[in-house]
Amino acid sequence: MEDMKVRLKSTVLLYKKNPKRLALRFCSEIIDFDDEIGDIRFFFDLLNGQHSVKQIIEAYSERYPHYPDKAQTYLDTVNELKLIEFHPQDSSPLTHKQKERFSRNFEFFNSILPIGMNKYEIQNTLLDSQVVVLGCGGLGSHIILELAALGIGNLTIVDFDKIELSNLNRQILYKETDIGKKKVFVARDNIMQFNSKIKVNAIEKKIESPADVTKIIKGHDLVICVADKPRNEMVNWLNAACCTEKIPYINGGLDIRKAVFYSVIPGETGCTECWKSSLTEEKRKFIDEDNITANDYIAPAPALSALVSITAGAMVCETVKLLTDLQYASLTNNLKTFSFDDLTITTTEQWTINPECTCCGLNEG
Ligand SMILES: [Zn+2]
Repeated sequence: MEDMKVRLKSTVLLYKKNPKRLALRFCSEIIDFDDEIGDIRFFFDLLNGQHSVKQIIEAYSERYPHYPDKAQTYLDTVNELKLIEFHPQDSSPLTHKQKERFSRNFEFFNSILPIGMNKYEIQNTLLDSQVVVLGCGGLGSHIILELAALGIGNLTIVDFDKIELSNLNRQILYKETDIGKKKVFVARDNIMQFNSKIKVNAIEKKIESPADVTKIIKGHDLVICVADKPRNEMVNWLNAACCTEKIPYINGGLDIRKAVFYSVIPGETGCTECWKSSLTEEKRKFIDEDNITANDYIAPAPALSALVSITAGAMVCETVKLLTDLQYASLTNNLKTFSFDDLTITTTEQWTINPECTCCGLNEG
């Protein structure tokens, strides 16, 4: 490792106009340095991909012999802040076209990665991933498009509905000429035009039991559920199937001016049964009553595309976290709510894994 050449990541911007100060900008944060003797500038100039860690320490010590340990301290600091990378990077498993298509993706991933981690591998993991999207309506169509842009290599999409004119205020995968056609097949065809390398398995099916969910999700890495019918049963079926198959899932939906979303990693984080067991008696009673009466809005349910889009974006951010080692998941053990009224995302429910849970607990081992 000591012989590997290092450089400042391309996403770090240096400001060197004032000779006694130096500033750098990374991810919208400005880090300011006093540079009285100019050694910091000298140090940063060495981070150009031409020198190894060993050579940087030697060059610095030669120029500033009174500060023998400083170069190492500076290196530790820029390393901790994840500002440096090896140059050149390890070999890429991606084809030339994939490298070009997803270059913005892996530079984004690289801004998070510590030195020595291969940015291409994150993209490669996404290209190898198998993701199910249950529902090709508002959230589904936004999410499917986002997943295709992200480079998820294998998509299974499920829906039974036909496209109607009233869908076109938010279901952005469809056009006026698609009205009357089955959503799932139009979604597949449009996605294939957007990214012809994706393998799309389109399943026209109305989900009617946990067994239906299990059959569809087997062998996949992640399930994204945005099917809202049947409203109450769907969450239970999804949770039961994913806990049995030990497949992580993200669930999300809209309720007028609010959007809610959360994720579950079976066996690692609390499932929806764990969540329910943490609720007060009063809330549980309400959920039970809601399950029995299955009250719902009289159609048409309100929906605004921009709100759908933000929710889909948050759920696809979580997708990256669940499929790769980039960052730990953000939506596990908590329900997040996005509100149109103040445009903020807040945590509105929290829970933990319940070791006694009959859904995710009994499957341990
Ligand atoms: Zn559970």
